[in-house]
Amino acid sequence: MPLKSLPEYEQLAEQAHGHLCAGQILGLRMALYAMNLLSLPDPAGADRKRLVTFVEIDRCVTDAIPVVTGCRLGKRALKFRDFGKVAATFCDLREDRAVRIIAREGARDRARELYPAIESRNQQQMRAYRDMPDDDLFEIQWVRVALAPEDIPGYKAPRVICAQCHEAVSFKREVRREGLVLCRACAGERYYTPL
Ligand SMILES: [Zn+2]
Ligand SMILES: [Zn+2]
Repeated sequence: MPLKSLPEYEQLAEQAHGHLCAGQILGLRMALYAMNLLSLPDPAGADRKRLVTFVEIDRCVTDAIPVVTGCRLGKRALKFRDFGKVAATFCDLREDRAVRIIAREGARDRARELYPAIESRNQQQMRAYRDMPDDDLFEIQWVRVALAPEDIPGYKAPRVICAQCHEAVSFKREVRREGLVLCRACAGERYYTPL
């Protein structure tokens, strides 16, 4: 299925995200821009296995990106790096190239300039983010992303068992320390405290 129109993606994004908002439009525009820059006309279909996306913030904008790219967390094609930035990197594995797209800080002010009559800030931004040229919304950076084999979708390897908690660990996420195989939690990265 080749790329759809923005209004069609807006419907899908609204279903997936629960509401339509300026962040959804921005995320859709960002992903569509990336597909153009990488010449990937069919990311959710024939080109599906070529693409890995890194997202840098856990906000509305991020939910819209898989709607276009088909890259999902459960498919290992969506990677989250918690940098708190409205930015994402789209990696074409087949052509071995990647583009990072950053939302311009000035886009909000531009929305206000363009549609001063629209009172709701969200409505104002939604309208502007539909209309503004890619260059006004985003900055781009061609980048190199070193993806280890275990980070690529489809990687297969046996799971290992943590010597301390006995939970199973996939994708080489274990840590080897003093002859022991540990999970990252037992190696000191635990974000929870067992009660
Ligand atoms: Zn939202
Ligand atoms: Zn453990």
